[in-house]
Amino acid sequence: MKIDLHIHSKNSDGADTVEELIPKIKEANVDIFALTDHDRTDGWDKAAELANQLGLSFIPGIEITTEGRVPDGEGNIHPFGIHLLAYLPNPNDPELVAILTTNQKSRVTRAKAFVANLQAKYPLLTFELVLRIAQEGSTLGRPDIAQSLVELGEYPSVNDVFNAPDSPIHKRSPYYVRNEAPDVLEVIRIVRNAGGVPVVAHPLARTSSEDDQPTYLPREHFQAMVEAGLLGLETQHKEVAPATREVLELFAKEHNLITTGSSDYHGLSVKPFNPLGLHSTSLEMLQRILELGTGAKPTLNHKI
Ligand code: AMP
Ligand code: ZN
Ligand code: FE
Ligand code: FE
Repeated sequence: MKIDLHIHSKNSDGADTVEELIPKIKEANVDIFALTDHDRTDGWDKAAELANQLGLSFIPGIEITTEGRVPDGEGNIHPFGIHLLAYLPNPNDPELVAILTTNQKSRVTRAKAFVANLQAKYPLLTFELVLRIAQEGSTLGRPDIAQSLVELGEYPSVNDVFNAPDSPIHKRSPYYVRNEAPDVLEVIRIVRNAGGVPVVAHPLARTSSEDDQPTYLPREHFQAMVEAGLLGLETQHKEVAPATREVLELFAKEHNLITTGSSDYHGLSVKPFNPLGLHSTSLEMLQRILELGTGAKPTLNHKI
């Protein structure tokens, strides 16, 4: 059985509408899937309906934008982005709704501030252009800003914008604006409280553009997340290096955490292409998610 628990639709930053996406999942021979749009749940109902029509099983999920705040021993905090997958949370839980609403708003505020900074170098860049490039309702981010710079003829491709030696959108760029997000420990508690199963997405992932992400395992930080109620790690993901995966899997075993494998499919968009079903979660791990997730109902068309 193929189980892919990390998939995006056009509701966030994927290329496919939910209506286009679910038949593609069927074609890719994935049996059980989760829809995990960034900071939103509005695709769930349609996904459940189409899953029933096509005989697929559907697990409702969200990829929540959060921040890890790790003290460096000298009392300084170096925040870094953590994406937290939440399976089967109650989508109407007030604290969860508040977090998702705040996150959707801060993406817009951040993109506006980023564009304002970049206008010093690229006077033709406007927030309206970035909005037009991003799909409606989509999660605004650096890929949309990069695509806008390509549209203006400043760079040949999105990849070039990200990877240029003096990339204007790199974390170290003077124009960079951080995306503010809630503390991951607080979000873990909120997800658990809403009956959800929190799983760290692509832990310690390295994308070419994020070469300043920590590559070692900040063990205390993972421990703090476990103490806050973390239940799993997405160890099998294209951006998790094999050596990192091994360390993460050992850590998961020690702490009896769930481990998952997923594609992080976004379709053909400005994001890197990850085919559906690229990685799969085991049935045993899915069973644990289903036992622990009590805030929303899965749509099951398989014997599990
Ligand atoms: P942001 O969350 O707005 O800071 O943007 C980070 C996003 O950019 C991540 O989700 C990455 O998947 C995406 N990204 C990183 N490198 C590239 C690249 N070379 N091409 C397209 N998207 C990228
Ligand atoms: Zn995404
Ligand atoms: Fe992510
Ligand atoms: Fe994702």
